[in-house]
Amino acid sequence: MRTKKVRGIARDTLQFILEASRSSLPMEFAGLLSVEDEIITEVLILPGTESSRMSALVRLYMLPNMQVAGSAHSHPSGDLRPSEQDIIFFSRTGDYHLIVGPPFDFQSWACYDGSGRRRDLAILDVKFKDDWFDDEFDDDIGEESDDRLNEGRR
Ligand code: ZN
Repeated sequence: MRTKKVRGIARDTLQFILEASRSSLPMEFAGLLSVEDEIITEVLILPGTESSRMSALVRLYMLPNMQVAGSAHSHPSGDLRPSEQDIIFFSRTGDYHLIVGPPFDFQSWACYDGSGRRRDLAILDVKFKDDWFDDEFDDDIGEESDDRLNEGRR
């Protein structure tokens, strides 16, 4: 399965991965990344640990129309380098692989290609459909809430 062109990852999607990884502690979080309009916008959560990930992957590949761009998982140790098992997994799962670690902020992640080499991945501000709702009601909400709602758009 070939990956289409990828321009980057949506900021909200990266934030979701970071938050899910933090709340999975002390366990590892793992998911597959899917692409829409050349942007990584979706995470399909994979059960299990590094060693059991491959069997979950095989099952997912049986789903029709699944466009897998790569994967994302956490290293609770904070060492963002891929393990040997990771690199085997990366080579079968697409071209963009995120590893995140504590403190799970926008600096504590790295992206690798299918052979485990570091690569750049842009963080893109994408307007999701439900932003519409926020825009409509911005005027009625106090300043503090406005800051929170606007976070995802910068
Ligand atoms: Zn790993």
